[in-house]
Amino acid sequence: MPADEQLARVLYVDLTNRRCRVERREDLFSRYLGGTGVATQLLKEEIDPKVDPLSPENVVVMAVGIFTGVYPAASKLVAMFKSPLTGNLGESHAGGRAAIALRMSGFGALVMKGASETPIYLSIHDGIAEFRDASSLWGVRSSLTIGKVLREREPWPGLRSIMRIGRAGEKLVRYASVVLETYRHFGRLGLGAVWGSKRLKALVVGGRRAIPVADVREYREAYRSAFEECLRSPATRKYHELGTAENVTPLNEIGGLPTRNLKSARFEGAELISGERFAQESLARRIACAHCPIACVHIASIRELYPGEKYFYVTRYISYDYEPIYALGSMLGVSEIKGVLKLVEQADALGLDAISSGVALAWATEAYERGAISDEETVVRPSWGDWRTYLRMLELIVEQPNGFYKLLAEGTERVAERYGGSEYALTLGGNEMPGYHTGPGAHVGYAIGLRHSHLDNAGYSLDQKYLGKAYPDPEALIDELIEEESWRQVLTSLVICLFVRGVYRPDLISRALKPLGISMSEEELRELGREIYREKLRLKVLMGFDPDNLRVPKRVFEIPSPHGRIGEDYVRRALDHYRRIVRSTVADNYKFHRSSDAFTASGSGALG
Ligand code: SF4
Repeated sequence: MPADEQLARVLYVDLTNRRCRVERREDLFSRYLGGTGVATQLLKEEIDPKVDPLSPENVVVMAVGIFTGVYPAASKLVAMFKSPLTGNLGESHAGGRAAIALRMSGFGALVMKGASETPIYLSIHDGIAEFRDASSLWGVRSSLTIGKVLREREPWPGLRSIMRIGRAGEKLVRYASVVLETYRHFGRLGLGAVWGSKRLKALVVGGRRAIPVADVREYREAYRSAFEECLRSPATRKYHELGTAENVTPLNEIGGLPTRNLKSARFEGAELISGERFAQESLARRIACAHCPIACVHIASIRELYPGEKYFYVTRYISYDYEPIYALGSMLGVSEIKGVLKLVEQADALGLDAISSGVALAWATEAYERGAISDEETVVRPSWGDWRTYLRMLELIVEQPNGFYKLLAEGTERVAERYGGSEYALTLGGNEMPGYHTGPGAHVGYAIGLRHSHLDNAGYSLDQKYLGKAYPDPEALIDELIEEESWRQVLTSLVICLFVRGVYRPDLISRALKPLGISMSEEELRELGREIYREKLRLKVLMGFDPDNLRVPKRVFEIPSPHGRIGEDYVRRALDHYRRIVRSTVADNYKFHRSSDAFTASGSGALG
């Protein structure tokens, strides 16, 4: 077991009865290192896999890893739950200060279940958890205002994180996010809706405890190597400079930038919303998640006249990244930086996932163009590039004034099932597609990824690696994607930001574990990743994932990618191979454990 015994403490929270208990889980932390490996096991123990994701019985697990607060860029907090968007395993990672605050508060993981009758928030400071009334915060227009109010209500001299939902979460939009600090999110797969269904408005975590290491001298050396590489490695250069927004130009040049609901993969307005343009015209500063030297979070400023004033301006700060620029920019035909930033700001204020929102609006615009839906459904008139109308549509997704918006709030796949247009509904595994139309690897990768995210296995990177070379056959592609995804389970268990995956190679991780009292070879690490991958896949299947239902929308095959048109036959063979792997993994005598529901301690306050 690592030197820091507090890492093994798990706080179990019963939101229905407002009770907490703490349990030591050395068994899990010593075997899985934390993060996604531990969260998978805790979720497996606590959840009935067939549960309705928006019922009180859904369970939310949040976990940090053994590297959290110890090595640079190990700054992410993992959340696992049953997703209301896909109906199966939900997993989301967020930066900011949350992971380190939770560890410094004296916990390695948090398990929340049940639902409060009235809005509440949970406050955890240095191991003391308390339930607080959030009635006055429910319905507040902007999630950013909630952050400001809680900053004043919960003063704290140590490291603190404020996580909260917006109105989208309250209204159970299935792709609602949880907003952290000011610019970070649990964006994907609807964690915000799960919190909303539990009437959990916010989670405030503060910590001041030190994190011990077993061998300080060896630790200093390992730390220095990791820190130097984070700063100087070519693998992290783009993140400090233009940030992920740097992707816009090269993706457009190779014909891989999804545009206007992927009616094209090149955008004539790409230069106007490129990373270079954002930096020249609106970059105000760069910030970092706690304990990260890279500072990839790029913040733009916009200056606007105060309503009703002639000379009085207000300046606001909004973060930007490649994915929101794609989803709320090229995908909607928006080529004005100001338009993209205002849409990002609106999504943040409402607490909506930018990727899913952009793809849903892109589908709605095409469906409107084709006459599948009319003014009666849309209320306003969507049109490519008209960001002012899209600003209103984001609000309408939350307000849900009619049956159409109610379905749009359930996701692109569901709304297309009702109104038609599934062939141009750009979802894979029920999740809206990320911003890469780079070839078969990207789309097959989204389809088979445990989260249906580009970060699961980076199929888009494989597409770029094989540009101009012989492309692997479908079975080899699947094997390569799964091997990559399995390795990423190690990174997300530790929990390292995936942007520094090029730095934290198996040899460096093996070396960095030693001063923390853990001896693992590179091969043992890889085997652990494979085991966690299998565990998650089995849980995903128990929750309802059926690989036979995987579909790749027809539009993907119609629009040439940098590898030319993606062959339907190629994708069919790849998915058939994947189905065989799923079947053999699930058939492998899987046991499902369910722990007792009994909470052993009571009281509205807490345990520490
Ligand atoms: S690289 Fe960026 S997202 Fe990752 S931890 Fe650092 S600042 Fe946060």
